[in-house]
This record gives sequence, structure tokens and C-alpha cells, in this order.
Amino acid sequence: MEDLGLMDYYHVPRVCKQCGGVMVYRGIGEYQCEECGYEDYDDYGKARRYIEKNSGATAMDIENATGVSQKSIRRMLREARLEVASTSKVFLHCERCGKEIRSGQYCDECEMQLHRTIEEQQRELQRKGKTGYGIREQGDEGRRRFIHE
Ligand SMILES: [Zn+2]
Ligand SMILES: [Zn+2]
Repeated sequence: MEDLGLMDYYHVPRVCKQCGGVMVYRGIGEYQCEECGYEDYDDYGKARRYIEKNSGATAMDIENATGVSQKSIRRMLREARLEVASTSKVFLHCERCGKEIRSGQYCDECEMQLHRTIEEQQRELQRKGKTGYGIREQGDEGRRRFIHE
């Protein structure tokens, strides 16, 4: 069993807020519902998007604008998930496979795989009907045509 604790730490969206479908990881903090195409972001994705549009933003600005906690932001900075003017030449290694990486905690492949594991777990939960989310009430059928663009 993989330790997925850190993924939860960043509030990875697992279930679509619109239709209750499984959210699939698209890369750099972005997710898309496999059912209706709704896009959502984890803390990293939210903070990153905000910083892109507001260079020079402080942790407090980010928290106010995105709701991502400063604690979470500081942790991302420490892990170099968020880029600040960096003089560091430290090489990091993927915590899962040991490959050399330039930032973050996992290499791209491992991060992808971890997300695939989360998605599979979520599908399993959905199959068992134990999502714990009471969202399935609205227009699922009408939304299905947006699935495969
Ligand atoms: Zn959806
Ligand atoms: Zn790896």
C-alpha cells in the first residue's frame, strides 16, 4: 500500500464538485473530472496560478486569495514546489524511486503513478457506493456528452 498521506495534505480534489465523478490528475496541481470535464486544483495548483498572475505575492496574499493556508504555502516553498528566487543548487531525489529531480518530492512519473493510485482508490469507493459525498443529484446524463473532447 502506497503512503498517500502527502497527497491529502495538499487537498487533492478526488471527487468532482459538479457531478461526483472521479477527478483525474492532469499535472502541476490541475485536475479534471473524467465525467463532466470540470476542472479543479489542489493547494499547489491554486497557489501556483495565483503567483503566476500576482508576482511578488506574499504567503498572506495567497492565503487570502486562494484559501490555501500559509502553513501549506511555507511547506511548498520548502519543498521547492513553489518557485521563489532561488540560489540553491541542491539536488533532490524522488522519495519513491530515487531519481534525481529539480523540485518537489517525487519525479514526474512517480507523481503521476501516485495520482493514478488515488484515482483507482476513488473509483473503487464509488463502485462500493461509499463516496461519503451526497452529490449525484443534478444532471449527470446531460453532462456526459462533455466527457471525451
Ligand atoms: Zn464532474
Ligand atoms: Zn520517482
